[in-house]
Amino acid sequence: MSRLRSAVQKGKLTALENTKVIKSSNKKKPKPTIKEEELSEMVPSSYHIFHDPSEISLFRSRLLHWYDQYKRELPWRTVAMKEPDVNIRTYAVWVSEIMLQQTQVATVIDYYNKWMKRWPSVEKLAAATLEEVNQMWAGLGYYSRGRRLHEGAKKVVSELGGQMPRTTEELLKQLPGVGRYTAGAIGSIALGQVTGAVDGNVIRVLCRVRAIGAYSTSPTVTDALWKIADRIVEQERPGDFNQAMMELGARVCTPKSPLCSQCPIQTNCHAFRKVSIKQEKDSKRLPSNLAANPNTLVPDIENCSATGNCNLCLLEEWDPQLGVQNYPRKPFKKAPRVEQTLTCIVERQRAGEEIEYLLTQRPNKGLLAGMWELPSFILEAGVSENKHKGLLCSMMQKLLGTSLDTDLLQFVGEVVHIFSHIHQTYIVFSCCVSDCSEAEQEQKTSWLTKSALQGAAVSTGVKKIMKLYESTNNVGSKDKKRKLSPLVGKEKRSNKTKRLKESATNGGPKQLCLSEFFSTSKPAAKANGKHS
Ligand code: SF4
Ligand code: ZN
Repeated sequence: MSRLRSAVQKGKLTALENTKVIKSSNKKKPKPTIKEEELSEMVPSSYHIFHDPSEISLFRSRLLHWYDQYKRELPWRTVAMKEPDVNIRTYAVWVSEIMLQQTQVATVIDYYNKWMKRWPSVEKLAAATLEEVNQMWAGLGYYSRGRRLHEGAKKVVSELGGQMPRTTEELLKQLPGVGRYTAGAIGSIALGQVTGAVDGNVIRVLCRVRAIGAYSTSPTVTDALWKIADRIVEQERPGDFNQAMMELGARVCTPKSPLCSQCPIQTNCHAFRKVSIKQEKDSKRLPSNLAANPNTLVPDIENCSATGNCNLCLLEEWDPQLGVQNYPRKPFKKAPRVEQTLTCIVERQRAGEEIEYLLTQRPNKGLLAGMWELPSFILEAGVSENKHKGLLCSMMQKLLGTSLDTDLLQFVGEVVHIFSHIHQTYIVFSCCVSDCSEAEQEQKTSWLTKSALQGAAVSTGVKKIMKLYESTNNVGSKDKKRKLSPLVGKEKRSNKTKRLKESATNGGPKQLCLSEFFSTSKPAAKANGKHS
């Protein structure tokens, strides 16, 4: 009789359908009425779940002990621990969780502190404008997150009487941009709800600990991981437990080079044990039947008894080079869409005033909604290079209400920026104009000085383009023959030429030192997990 069958007959296998956390191991469970031949289809092998309450208990205490010793002090953790007002506490954790989606902890800290200083409560955020929110978010990437926070705050104030939802289910239902993970995280950390929270880090840890090698994005694996997470979460400290799982994934059980020797749950880890046994076997120091030794680290079933008929086991061959990194397995990612965008830096300097740059506002929906950008448009496939200038001139004509000669456009260079699903190449041109009034048009435009640009809601892509522009101005300023628009008066043109020459002799145009303003903020690093 297989081990799985025997486990079931002994009543040891707890069906994963039970999403509630086990309260007592002594509780009598009803005998399973499922036919044995149906079992492999309906219930994953106990190898992949925590079926032994004493193991769960050990796992929790080891993990929390480690967390208490080694956790990082983070501003949102302090608020979650010390803030007595549940409304502010929930709001603060919500903000942190949204910022931490797709962005690394180190990048988030500064943004979070500034945000909470400016909008310390949901009411304050609701009273802000989207423009202000976008400004605050600039550089953090995935801009729709800020917009959803703002929308959510307005909804809490206008529809929920200013009270943040008090349960995981309500968080999920009421707040835009809050999915299952975020609701679980906020619910457990801010509200003490006993619920799991499965993010990228937790997926990795659980897949390794329970040797789950089927594609980690498949519905079967997702479902199994959530059930495991709900089962093992600590009841007294659910928020700390979930944060400990994430912290472990971010700092110990990392995607590459995991630190198994320092891992507090090493003895619970099937992946570690598998690797150890394989290594021992390879070195021929152990007999081949070691896997059946009852004194080994994992006390019960050492291998999946449903191998060959298990939808959580490894789909592909074990790769000895990867070790524990055989878990988790991900299907090949769809290649990002490749796009080319024509962009123009339009610079103007009016008598006695600072240089200004023309910006246009993106539509309020879609990618980078409501953000400011340099005049741009996406190139259709197959447009030849010599048509680029002509197309830009037409766009300028619409924006500035005056015709522009193609000769006035200078090629600056190309900038590549990777969005999560788009490989974007900006083909950058520049031109200088003088006093001109914008034409009547649908798109909102604005002339911003470099200091105004510093605080504007512009994306990392715009910052990269301006950085390139600055470097080409510095490098090529001596020989640069800048062509000015006919709109620039004769006197101004000669002054400008003189200025460029002067600055070239002095080692470059000082006024255009934009690096202070455009110190490339890290493009919102896409972490494998969330809290990295
Ligand atoms: Fe991850 Fe290694 Fe710890 Fe297993 S032992 S959970 S693989 S760090
Ligand atoms: Zn299996």
